[in-house]
Amino acid sequence: PFEKSMGQHILKNPSMVDSIVQKSGIKPTDVVLEIGPGTGNLTKKLLECAKSVVAVEVDPRMVLELNRRFQGTPYASRLKVIEGDVLKCDLPYFDICVANIPYKISSLLTFKLLSHRPVFRCAVIMYQQEFAMRLVANPGDSLYCRLSVNTQLLARVSHLLKVSRNNFRPPPKVDSSVVRIEPRQPLPRVSFKEWDGLVRICFIKKNKTLGALFKQKGVLTLLEKNYKTLQLLRLSGNPEGIAEGNEITSEDINVLANLMDDISMADGERENGDEDEEMDTELSSNMSEGSSFKDKVMSVLQEGDFLDKRASKLSQVDFLYLLSLFNKAGIHFS
Ligand code: SAM
Repeated sequence: PFEKSMGQHILKNPSMVDSIVQKSGIKPTDVVLEIGPGTGNLTKKLLECAKSVVAVEVDPRMVLELNRRFQGTPYASRLKVIEGDVLKCDLPYFDICVANIPYKISSLLTFKLLSHRPVFRCAVIMYQQEFAMRLVANPGDSLYCRLSVNTQLLARVSHLLKVSRNNFRPPPKVDSSVVRIEPRQPLPRVSFKEWDGLVRICFIKKNKTLGALFKQKGVLTLLEKNYKTLQLLRLSGNPEGIAEGNEITSEDINVLANLMDDISMADGERENGDEDEEMDTELSSNMSEGSSFKDKVMSVLQEGDFLDKRASKLSQVDFLYLLSLFNKAGIHFS
């Protein structure tokens, strides 16, 4: 019997397993990390083309079945099964990750992989289709969101193939998609906290103009507070707290992982999240007392021609440029 709580939906269609493996571009010298091998349908094909496979599986019954399946075959010596929760264990070295995972660990696993060192070549992962579409969404696409922006800061992502629910036993309630994730190397030199702070504000409402968003009292108050703190730090000759162009660390990515989990879920539930109005009542666009600080913020937006732009249409490069303009003006997001 398959465990629903562990997302056990077994890929039954052999030609689908073949195309996933084929699209992974595995070389005979590769160490492959498989997550959630289950009964081993994918594992077998991976063993046929890789140097070795390390598989992490949480269900002891599956681990037993897997070991039994390959016992006494030439594959046995090239397969290592680790019993445990992939989110809790230390990952071994690998060149490529291939995984048909339970969907509830999608964002935590993705960011865990992206923070793994040394950096791997690529990951080929089956996700719930809507999650996959969010990961790969481009500016202007209806599903473009913080998950897209933050993932694409760290990796190149592309959609490989759609997999209908009928390929699984038992069939899940939703269709799936396989996505390829290639970590960027080197990572853009940006302070992660600054990046995340900016992106959060821009996506409070992704279809609102940045001019309108940055006029909101809550946003201005926050930025002005940061601004003043930094001025004090500078005056006291303590530049330690001033974050400029630090490289993203795997620590940062872990923080990101936890943040992304809430938002990807929240976004997922809100089908037509484009016009969510709930923030409006909370954030008034009244002029704040410190209108000169507001002018400063507006002039930065103006300088980069961002006043009428909306997060829903901005690319990685746009966000990085906007952040650099703010930082140049002494305005920080962390
Ligand atoms: N790879 C198999 C296939 O394609 O037929 C099974 C895929 S099934 C969707 C997900 C597998 O992940 C199950 O075997 C389940 O026991 C395992 N699993 C669930 N949560 C896990 C976790 N946190 N860590 C490792 N494996 C997990």
